[in-house]
Amino acid sequence: MGYNAPMSQPIDLHSHSTASDGSLSPAELVSRAHALGVRVLALTDHDTLAGIPEASTRARQLGMSLIPGVEISVTWGKQTLHVVGLGVALDNEALNQGLAVLRDFRVWRADEIGRRLLRDAGIADATAGARQFAKGGLLSRTHFAHFLIAQGKAEHSREVFKRFLVSGKPGHVPGQWATLEQALGWIGAAGGQAVLAHPARYKLGYGKLRTLCQEFKRLGGVGIEVVSGSQDANEAQELARLAQQLGLLASSGSDYHGPESPWQELGALPPLPGICTPLWHDWPEALAA
Ligand code: AMP
Ligand code: MN
Ligand code: MN
Ligand code: MN
Repeated sequence: MGYNAPMSQPIDLHSHSTASDGSLSPAELVSRAHALGVRVLALTDHDTLAGIPEASTRARQLGMSLIPGVEISVTWGKQTLHVVGLGVALDNEALNQGLAVLRDFRVWRADEIGRRLLRDAGIADATAGARQFAKGGLLSRTHFAHFLIAQGKAEHSREVFKRFLVSGKPGHVPGQWATLEQALGWIGAAGGQAVLAHPARYKLGYGKLRTLCQEFKRLGGVGIEVVSGSQDANEAQELARLAQQLGLLASSGSDYHGPESPWQELGALPPLPGICTPLWHDWPEALAA
């Protein structure tokens, strides 16, 4: 990154709405992106496509491009991974059925998180409380975090996750999401491009990360998030080299969840390192504008 590199990009390929654990409605999200200068936005809610029609309608009204996307929860060994699918067809059966299974698991898991928080931390009615923050969308640990903060159990989300929601803590429920092969199969069936989300967040170490990226590519993955709202400049440089070595394209996305997390903003991203091939290098002119 040069010293004068802008921290604002017209393309943002990772964001969330109230359909999953974001706090803006799909239409509000698109309007905010537009106001901030984003011209190509992917809505990538966790395990659901439910927000896309509303987002697409608003994007059309504003004359910007909305990429229909999804962020699929995956279990790889003992690790939870997130795989973003971009440009997916909304009516593909394999994708929709696969996502429906993940959402069913979320419904069961939410009740189980509530039972465990009561049993092991003496916190009552957490599932109903979390549901109030979910605004009708699917239930995520993010909503439990909002509820627990509102109950005064912790001050902010990093603390609440650490004390209640991660492995070994009262509200953690281990579980099986999609396999990497399934997620990539569904995205491929729906005509989308599969991107490994925020690879640095998994803290895998270089060798294991490289193995993951190789397997990801072998199973049909085309890119990795080199630039992410949850990765720093050093991580971006390392991931840029890894992508280049392995012949993977580079994606860029804020992972925006809402105005309550002001350290992540739509389009507020450094440019991709120069050695990268952008994921959108062969997208139609109108999109890549
Ligand atoms: P879930 O998919 O329901 O298990 O929830 C995962 C979501 O929780 C992620 O997509 C993040 O938005 C959020 N999350 C995970 N870990 C943390 C953390 N340490 N601090 C804040 N938010 C987190
Ligand atoms: Mn999230
Ligand atoms: Mn993620
Ligand atoms: Mn995300």
